[in-house]
Amino acid sequence: MTKAAELKTIDHYINGKVVAGVSGRYADVYNPATGKVTGRVALANASEVAAAIANAEAAYPAWRNTPPAKRAQVMYRLKTLMEQNSDKICALLTAEHGKVLNDAAGELQRGIENVEYACGAPELLKGEHSKNVGPSIDSWSEFQPLGVVAGITPFNFPAMVPLWMWPMAIVCGNTFVLKPSERDPSCMMYLAELALEAGLPPGVLNVVNGDKEAVDVLLSDERIMAVSFVGSTPIAEYIYKTGTSNGKRVQALGGAKNHAIVMPDADLDNAVSALMGAAYGSCGERCMAIPVVVAVGNEVGDALVKKLKAELAVMKVGPGTDVSNDMGPLITKEHFKKVKGYVDLGVTEGAELVVDGRGLVVAGHEEGYFLGGCLFDKVTPGMKIYRDEIFGPVLCVVRAESLQQAMDLIDAHEYGNGTCLFTRDGEAARYFTDNIKVGMVGINVPLPVPVSYHSFGGWKRSLFGDLHAYGPDAVRFYTKRKTITQRWPSGVRETAVFTFPINS
Ligand code: NAD
Repeated sequence: MTKAAELKTIDHYINGKVVAGVSGRYADVYNPATGKVTGRVALANASEVAAAIANAEAAYPAWRNTPPAKRAQVMYRLKTLMEQNSDKICALLTAEHGKVLNDAAGELQRGIENVEYACGAPELLKGEHSKNVGPSIDSWSEFQPLGVVAGITPFNFPAMVPLWMWPMAIVCGNTFVLKPSERDPSCMMYLAELALEAGLPPGVLNVVNGDKEAVDVLLSDERIMAVSFVGSTPIAEYIYKTGTSNGKRVQALGGAKNHAIVMPDADLDNAVSALMGAAYGSCGERCMAIPVVVAVGNEVGDALVKKLKAELAVMKVGPGTDVSNDMGPLITKEHFKKVKGYVDLGVTEGAELVVDGRGLVVAGHEEGYFLGGCLFDKVTPGMKIYRDEIFGPVLCVVRAESLQQAMDLIDAHEYGNGTCLFTRDGEAARYFTDNIKVGMVGINVPLPVPVSYHSFGGWKRSLFGDLHAYGPDAVRFYTKRKTITQRWPSGVRETAVFTFPINS
């Protein structure tokens, strides 16, 4: 066993400094490719979170009054620093999450694009102006920051998801407290250091590591004005209900079970390539992954399963540090057991296990949390492996007789994050995009993750709240509209008017 003294300790980042945890509680951080503990992360207690909030509150007045163009300049420098240090960021990501290095680079690039969008703050915060809404009366709306806001993020995108939140929040004039996932916290700690190097004043961005104890303080402390959350649906629902009942603005993005539909007229070879990446990339641990594919017609279903099986036979699984691998390990031993348990269950439930990844051993990494790609056919909507979010490398093939029947399956599912239709038929595609009850829709695009200047969010139990993450919705989420109506006395004495003001 590794001795505590040899382990790296991951503390908190408060007021521009690394601050050692004092709660005495720690969680182990693992390298999922080796199964070894590589560090321990401090779990903040209530007073440590309160200290972070107090620092964010103290930094707020000056930051709020810093011109948006100046705030944006910090973002420009941060973007450059992230690009210059991308190898280090990706190495941290792979070491604690397990994803393959070039997949980590993709995640980082998507995160950097959110920083690029935040550079547009002066334009994004311009507001709306109307002259002469009445005689000599002008009116405008401006978007003012909220104050101290909080973010709580999941393990599966330790760089990108935090970057959905704090760059936009702070460029809008807020100060921020982020609680990253305790499973892979190092990346966010390093990003906070880079933000300071980019010129962000101390206290504007604070990172507290922790678990439910820390989160509950963020949900109840009256100095926190808004909370952005990304994670699983049960926790998202808890965050939304608790935060809103405490008077906070909350957006809580939850889990998913994204379906792809393959039509008889689809380009099948391209659909199979797209599905391989979407189902097994990042070991299926993406909220936009495709764990269900609905084949329309048995002919398509049979051909699809045959081709997927052939692709799985050559898919390379191994440590994320070797970029020739297609897929790395799962995040933790517990999660490995959970996902493997679902594969066992699928067999019991009567689905046909076409490819069984359970026996996979990666030479030299026998203790790593590796599960080979699994493929089920003849999955039906009553099965738990169909209904639950498994969040692993398990793809379920369901058979349907028509596009409508496939769409009915999607609409009946509790989640509505992403979906994709593979077809060559424009009419079918238009019908699908018009009617499907899902927030992010792809046509021959398996992972329709919106670019940074659109916004990201699902429907149904994949999102609690009204505004989506990043992009234009983030400007609205992290600001409050104020509308000012202004008239300067003209020197004419006016009599009192008791009727409601109108333009007569
Ligand atoms: P999780 O819900 O377990 O944890 C998310 C965050 O909540 C973490 O910071 C964690 O410390 C905290 N948390 C956990 N339990 C808590 C509790 N009882 N009370 C308060 N806080 C708690 O999620 P995860 O396993 O880290 O991430 C995977 C999940 O996130 C999947 O369900 C995935 O679909 C979802 N996800 C969704 C999106 C999206 O945009 N919709 C994006 C990425 C991940």
